[in-house]
Amino acid sequence: MATLDGTEILRQLSDPFYPECHVRESVTSTFDWLKELERSGAPEGTIVIAERQSAGRGRRGRVWQSPAGGAWFGILLKPKIPVTQSGCISVLSAVAIAQALREHYNRPVEVKWPNDLWLYQKKLGGILSELTTAGNRVESLLLGIGINVNNAVPKDVRIEAISLAETLGHDVGLQDFFAAVLTEFASRYRNFLEHGFELVRTEWERVSALSESIWIEREDQKIIARVRELSSLGKLVVEINGRIEELVADDVTLSLKE
Ligand code: ATP
Repeated sequence: MATLDGTEILRQLSDPFYPECHVRESVTSTFDWLKELERSGAPEGTIVIAERQSAGRGRRGRVWQSPAGGAWFGILLKPKIPVTQSGCISVLSAVAIAQALREHYNRPVEVKWPNDLWLYQKKLGGILSELTTAGNRVESLLLGIGINVNNAVPKDVRIEAISLAETLGHDVGLQDFFAAVLTEFASRYRNFLEHGFELVRTEWERVSALSESIWIEREDQKIIARVRELSSLGKLVVEINGRIEELVADDVTLSLKE
């Protein structure tokens, strides 16, 4: 039996944006579960939470280790936006979570563009997104989010991992955690749909983990790039050898060190 209670999370949230919150003790992947719900017509704002994932995924099919105690969840979105704007939403969700954790737990959580949450140069979490489209419009956008909260962090990883509990010195109530994070997410998502990406772009400047220079992995080489800005479509604008390029989230691996 799951120890978290979806009804209680919705009650604590009291935001009509979220109509349903499903909780399971264990799933293969919250992302696959959310996809099934989407196919069976689940409404926008549906939340799925698993206490454990046996086959959590990162980008490009990489493994996301998800033992008990972490926040492994997904949100179903149906934004009425062109496909070209869809990249804004992963950045928006990373910024919303970073801000929520800064406010509620007083830790300097950062966003490593495009999809990672960092704390003290270690990996706190990651966000995955996937689209279904109708012509040039978005039909649905699935967000899969994994954050190390009270779980044991994996050791066999490329970038050292960290958990929220580890930095606070005590466990965090997951019910409160979800209420905080989902509230900040819904408020930024609404603002984005009504007023555009400006608020998130401004907040990103404050919470971005990227320094002036970064390294991009390309064809087994690391190329130095100077960070210019986040574009109005959520792309990272950089300067490489005097030329301006816009990086697209899906096909880039960035390092902060050489
Ligand atoms: P990287 O951060 O290594 O550049 P990426 O951003 O392309 O990779 P992600 O999809 O964010 O990849 O995450 C997958 C990687 O994260 C895995 O390959 C593994 O190294 C690491 N990882 C897996 N589980 C966890 C976890 N619970 N906490 C932190 N890192 C993890």
